Amino acid sequence: MERTSRKGQSIQFTGDLPAHDRSRTNGGSPARGGTPASATAEPPPPPKSRHSLRRFLAYVRPYTVWIVIAALCGMSKVILPSTMALALRFLTDRLVAGAAGKTAATGAHTDIISRGIEAYIAWMGHLLPGSWRAGTPWGMFNILMITLVFVYVFWGVTFFFRSYLSQMVGHRVILDLRTDLYQHITRLGHSFFQSRQSGGIVSRLMADIALAQNFVGNAMTNIWMDLASCVFYIYVLFAMDARLAAASLMVFPFYILSMRTLGDKSKKTSRAVQAALEQFSGDVQERMAGIQVVKSFAAERREAKSFFVSARKLFNLTMHNVRISTLANALVQWLTQMATLGIIWYGGYQLMHGYTTVGTVVAFILLLRELYFPVNRISEMNTILHNSLAAIDRVFEVFDMQSDVHEQPNARRLPRISGRIRFDHVTFGYQPDSPILRDIDLDIRPGEVVALVGPSGAGKSTLVQLVPRFFDPSAGRVEIDGIDLRTVALRSLRSQIGIVAQETLLFSGSVRDNLLYGRPSASEEEMVAAARAAFAHEFVMQLPEGYDTLIGERGARLSGGQKQRIAIARAFLCNPRILILDEATSALDSESEVLIQQALARLMRNRTSIVIAHRLSTILNSDRIVVMQQGRIEEVASHQALLARNGLYARLYRAQYQASLAG
Ligand code: ADP
Repeated sequence: MERTSRKGQSIQFTGDLPAHDRSRTNGGSPARGGTPASATAEPPPPPKSRHSLRRFLAYVRPYTVWIVIAALCGMSKVILPSTMALALRFLTDRLVAGAAGKTAATGAHTDIISRGIEAYIAWMGHLLPGSWRAGTPWGMFNILMITLVFVYVFWGVTFFFRSYLSQMVGHRVILDLRTDLYQHITRLGHSFFQSRQSGGIVSRLMADIALAQNFVGNAMTNIWMDLASCVFYIYVLFAMDARLAAASLMVFPFYILSMRTLGDKSKKTSRAVQAALEQFSGDVQERMAGIQVVKSFAAERREAKSFFVSARKLFNLTMHNVRISTLANALVQWLTQMATLGIIWYGGYQLMHGYTTVGTVVAFILLLRELYFPVNRISEMNTILHNSLAAIDRVFEVFDMQSDVHEQPNARRLPRISGRIRFDHVTFGYQPDSPILRDIDLDIRPGEVVALVGPSGAGKSTLVQLVPRFFDPSAGRVEIDGIDLRTVALRSLRSQIGIVAQETLLFSGSVRDNLLYGRPSASEEEMVAAARAAFAHEFVMQLPEGYDTLIGERGARLSGGQKQRIAIARAFLCNPRILILDEATSALDSESEVLIQQALARLMRNRTSIVIAHRLSTILNSDRIVVMQQGRIEEVASHQALLARNGLYARLYRAQYQASLAG
């Protein structure tokens, strides 16, 4: 690896790289080789369906009015079709049989429904012109049919509004919930993201919340409509013929039994499916992001195999769930058919003995279908509800995770700082019982450039992460301009710190989008000035669409050096008082290298800078060198003084210097 030192010799100053850290510098694989600390993210509390449900309902509450309207529309939608069967019964038994001169025993009914229809027709008859008023069967029949036309117009309207409103509320709740969850997640501390796969987080945000939406659509509106129609239809059946009604409801207990048993099973499997989906999304996302590593190790086949294994596992779990829900559905459908068959059988017997009428039996068959439809849905709803409840649990589980870096309620806004940084006997560990930084005591003056050196794993990156307060020390404190970071508002702190990381992170979008990311309000001139300062303007102008050129995911269409210059320009634009630099260790062509060195030198001017230094040139240009080892500061002084002391720095320096000379 060629690096140009001040004397024109090449050197790289990284010390020994442990195996896990090499992956980090070798390009793109996970930022940390070691297992990240899950212990620092507070573990989620055990799922509490009821508690989560209550919190979920708080999101639904603002839309109560719409839900009530949707439920009322739903009730009309399921109840109105009964008119068709009742009209048919009236036609067969009262009008046709009546016209054929049958006796009242077989032709007419005395139940409340028929009396109601008679009364309605008589009343309507008064409003109609002459010949229909006489009460002829044809006139009565027409009145009935015209009424049904209007009933079905109204039915169409309720049909529309029931579906529309319930879906609208469902999607609105999703919108609110997703927005809140996204905000919550982005505010969680670094430990959360280090302990989870980003694809898994996305899965909660997308798949789980979408499942939770079912709850609104189904539970909040369908249940009322289905319960109302059950009550209504049972009432109508009993009003028409109590014995037939009792006979037709005999399968009900079996119904309820099968719903219960299968519903419980379904809840369990649906949780497992969602968990597997989260894991799967996480893995896939990670592999896609690191596709270069996959390719460079020619591991496509292995990856395809492990993809297949995970996909297969998800498939098996899903199929288990599908088996249960379709079994439940088939059972219910079968029971419905049995009920109809039973009615025909028993109804036929009743008919043959003259205990009931043809119209009643036909109406029963039609109405039974209307009754079993909502019952079917209630049974399916059981499964849907279980699935949504499991999803709601998983969503609120994330809401319950707290950032380990809290902003105090009375946190003060940090004014424009001069940039003095003080580590006051700081101790810190990702896990409470294994400190990574031990008793760090360091005072950095405003405008000073401090180079952090030391073997890999010494704690350099960890130390700089405490400055923007990505983590809080477990003992001691970090101060900026004499103010303890725990007491300041995070935004006011972080907006004054610029970070240029080893691995340049850009978003897909245009060059402009990326430059303005830290300061969207910057003017065109300011943006161009920043790009010029970072030696980025020239190459940007050569891109097909200049600043509006799309750069691909993570800036894939730019070279490594170009990406770094964009990142430097981005930092310029924010004009931070404090600068944290993690020098890239990967080799760049020497022209890019020189440009980047110059850009960084400009960027550091008049700012307090902490540089995790890998290049001798950077180290020599710094005001002080802090040498770290195993979480402690071993030495602090200038290059010459440290060499004269002949300690750790001198040893590291000689090892690197000689190695590079030999190379
Ligand atoms: P350096 O930057 O000097 O190479 P780091 O600060 O990256 O050192 O790491 C110091 C130690 O902390 C290493 O042993 C590393 O494995 C460990 N470490 C770093 N990040 C994490 C993390 N998120 N969770 C747990 N351990 C970590």
